Amino acid sequence: MSSSENIKACNDMKIINTELESISKVVENCDKCELAKTRIKTVFGKGSHNPLIVFVGEAPGAEEDKTGMPFVGRGGRLLDTWLSKYNLNLDMVYIMNAIKCRPPKNRDPLPSEKEACRFYFEKQIELLKPKVLCGLGRHGFGNLVSLDSKLAYGKMRGIVHHYKNIPVIATYHPAYILRSSKEQEKVFEDFQLLLETLKNNQ
Ligand code: SF4
Repeated sequence: MSSSENIKACNDMKIINTELESISKVVENCDKCELAKTRIKTVFGKGSHNPLIVFVGEAPGAEEDKTGMPFVGRGGRLLDTWLSKYNLNLDMVYIMNAIKCRPPKNRDPLPSEKEACRFYFEKQIELLKPKVLCGLGRHGFGNLVSLDSKLAYGKMRGIVHHYKNIPVIATYHPAYILRSSKEQEKVFEDFQLLLETLKNNQ
């Protein structure tokens, strides 16, 4: 990279950091849906602002609500082990949920809540510009690729889907694997496809 290209890349990165920071501040004060009344903290995302991969879950749980950080409970720790198995870390990936506030008692978010939060989610991905996206669980993945409700989620695995021209891989949510540890081998298959797709898209 020439020095002028280097300067441009640095300036672009500064703009992205500032924009992500300012959306995060808007989210902190957001009351566009009822979830604002019951949340403790908003949960925006964590990791690199220039990521190779963005992992997308559905909505924060109790630990996330308390700390304001995504994937920090038992499920988050399992996700960390998957990342380190494939030599990935938060300097290379970004982890987020589509919905930024915890639904009470971990109920499914309502369509109106998803709609209200959609702008933040789309803007985040637009700024992060990942090479590949990974949907964590049916609901996380469903924010990236529309799903036929009659089709088993497992049928989405092993295929490269797309969200606005970015490749998308489906895998299971770590919370599901905590309940069904026998399925973990399938997650490893999905990570292989994820890394293969990343290699082909760099
Ligand atoms: S879930 Fe999204 S839209 Fe609803 S209050 Fe939280 S940040 Fe705003």
